[in-house]
This record gives sequence, structure tokens and C-alpha cells, in this order.
Amino acid sequence: MAKITLKNLSKQYKGGHVQALRDLSLECADGKFFCLLGPAGAGKTTTIKLIAGNEAVDHGSIFLDDKDVTNLEPKDRDIAVAYETYALYPQITVRENLRFPLDAPLRKNEYTNEAKNARVVEIANMLGIGELLERLPRQLSGGQRQRVALGRALVRKPKAYLLDEPIAHLDAKLRHRMRGELKRIQMDLGITTLYTTPDQLEALSLADYMAVINNGSIEQLGTPDEIYNQPANVFVARFVGDPPMNMFESQLDGDDLVIAGLLRYKIPANLKNLLASRSNGSGVTVGIRPKDLELATTIMDAPVFEASVEHVQVLGETSVVSMVMDSIELRMKLATQQAPGKGENVGLTFDIKKCHFFDIQTERRIDTA
Ligand code: ADP
Ligand code: MG
Repeated sequence: MAKITLKNLSKQYKGGHVQALRDLSLECADGKFFCLLGPAGAGKTTTIKLIAGNEAVDHGSIFLDDKDVTNLEPKDRDIAVAYETYALYPQITVRENLRFPLDAPLRKNEYTNEAKNARVVEIANMLGIGELLERLPRQLSGGQRQRVALGRALVRKPKAYLLDEPIAHLDAKLRHRMRGELKRIQMDLGITTLYTTPDQLEALSLADYMAVINNGSIEQLGTPDEIYNQPANVFVARFVGDPPMNMFESQLDGDDLVIAGLLRYKIPANLKNLLASRSNGSGVTVGIRPKDLELATTIMDAPVFEASVEHVQVLGETSVVSMVMDSIELRMKLATQQAPGKGENVGLTFDIKKCHFFDIQTERRIDTA
């Protein structure tokens, strides 16, 4: 087990037109589950390749505990990796693929033959591929191959696991089960795990600590609770949470906050002063999560604004209602039983304490707590 520390990592691929990573620093604490969350192309796989030693860094350094491993061969790092793209050995069976890491020359005497066989079977059963041990990779579906790749990483107990979107190609039900399994394995073994995903819900539910990454840079580091409740900027606020946070450009006018040029909202003096001093008079972006919008009957002392319902998406017990207010689109999430119908006009309101505020120019959070 080890702490992973990345210091100012930069990477541009030969022939690549973009900077894949820019000055990326983070620390995965020893024994913790760290999620790297970001959209496609953000630099997640690149980060994993650099830590594993499968790509060279341009600038910066990588430490396992206090040991600088930046220029070590992959085999000398004692890290196990599962790539999203599987990279299985095509000419050998699933059993042999799973056993391969245990037979590496470096670790020849770490396990007895019986222990290796038992571990392969144990991990295969846990991942639901125990029936597939004699097959070749080409005889498997994408989801089955992905589980073999994951098993090949988990079969050993290295200093750290690097799991690159390890369950992205499983169907929804299996993915849900595997999330639970992975969290359990990680907690049982206490092995430092760096896990990448584009799925915000997956990151929020698995991580002890996480980073949101975009265009090769870190947007925010924090616990899932901090990332969700105090998003550092507009990007994080919109990327984390589903459906995305509603955002309204707003101006201060005397004691009022004029939201989206439509809704006049009298705000407490201390909030007004704080927003005025932090926003340089240029206005603020007000963010409100779809779950925090309410139908107007529920809070009576707050201003009400009218919106008309364009579309209702029923998700079992909750529904997402898409609305327009003048030309501004917004979404609300509420119990299906209470959801208005398409074409209805509804009165909406919200509690100003549940709003998030961002500088219009820099898009950074203005903390009001
Ligand atoms: P993610 O895993 O978050 O989707 P990647 O780390 O794969 O992102 O990619 C980061 C950026 O680097 C992207 O813009 C991608 O197009 C680019 N990139 C990735 N691999 C290569 C490569 N081998 N050659 C050139 N550009 C690459
Ligand atoms: Mg990737």
C-alpha cells in the first residue's frame, strides 16, 4: 500500500494537438479510494498511463510514498492497472490471462502454485466470469472482456490499483453490482485505488476523495460532499449533479437581486454586500439545483415566477420537468405524483439559501456560508 503523489504533471502526445495534461497535481492518500471524474478527453487515461509508466511524462514527477518513480520501468512500480480498452493477451485463455500477473518473474516466489490457482478462481467467481476460464478473449463479449481486464488487476495485491473506467462496458445492472463489489474489495484489502470515470454518480458514490478534471487540469479536489455541495466553479456545478444545475445571469440592483433579468428577489443585506464586494459590480451567476426548485404553494413568502412546462421525463418515483420562463430554459426534479403536465403553466419558487453564486467573469464560486 502506498500514497500516490502527482506533482505538476504535464503531457503532450507526439503528434497530438492538445496538451493532454497541464500542471496536474494531486495526492491519493494511502489506502483510500480516489476517483478522477471528468468528461471524455479530459486526461483521465493519460494520468493512469503516466502513473503506470506506460507513457513518459514531459514535466513533473510521480511519487509512491516518498519514492520518486517518474522514470522507473512499469514492472518496477508494483502497481496493477486495468485499462478501459482491456489489452488482454489474445492467444491465451481467460484463466491464463488472469494468472499472468502472478507468474511475473519478479514475483515468482510470492505465491505457491496452489495459491495462484485458488486466487484466479476466487477473483473470477467474484467478477461473475468463473464459467469462462477456458475461453479465449475473442470468444467473449465486451463486458466479459472488461471483467477479465479488471480481474487481472485485482488478482494481485500491489501497492496501488489504477482502474481506468473499469466497468464502463457492463450493462447497467451489472455495473451497479460491480460498483458495490469494488468498493467492498477496496475496503477489505485497503489498497490505494485510483479510479477514473465520466459518471458523476459513480464517483460520488465510490470515492473517499475525488478530483474533477477537465482539459487536462484539475477543476476541484475534495470529498464527494464538498464537490456536490460547494462546487468551486460553474464547470463543476454543472458537471456534478443530474440533471445539471440551472444557471441564471443576475444583477444586483439596490437591495434586490434581479435573476435572469426577470425575477426580482429581495436579499438580506449581508448577502447583498458580500455579492457586491466579490463580483466587482459585474453581476453574479446564480445556480439552483433542479431538486431545489419548488412549486409555488410550498413556500409562500418567497417570490414566485411563472414557467411553462415543455416536457416531462418520468424516472419512476421522481420526474424531471423541463420548462421555459420567457426564453430561459430550466429544469426541476420532483416526486412524480406532484409533477405538472406538459403545457401547464406553473408558479415556481426557491429558497435563496439553497442557491450557489459564481462570479460571472471568472466563473468561480463566491462563498456565502
Ligand atoms: P480521457 O481518458 O479523459 O477520455 P485521454 O487521457 O485519453 O482522456 O486524452 C486526453 C487528450 O489527449 C485528448 O485530447 C486526446 O485526444 C489526447 N490523446 C490521448 N491519447 C493520445 C495519443 N496517443 N496521441 C495523441 N493524442 C492523444
Ligand atoms: Mg479514457
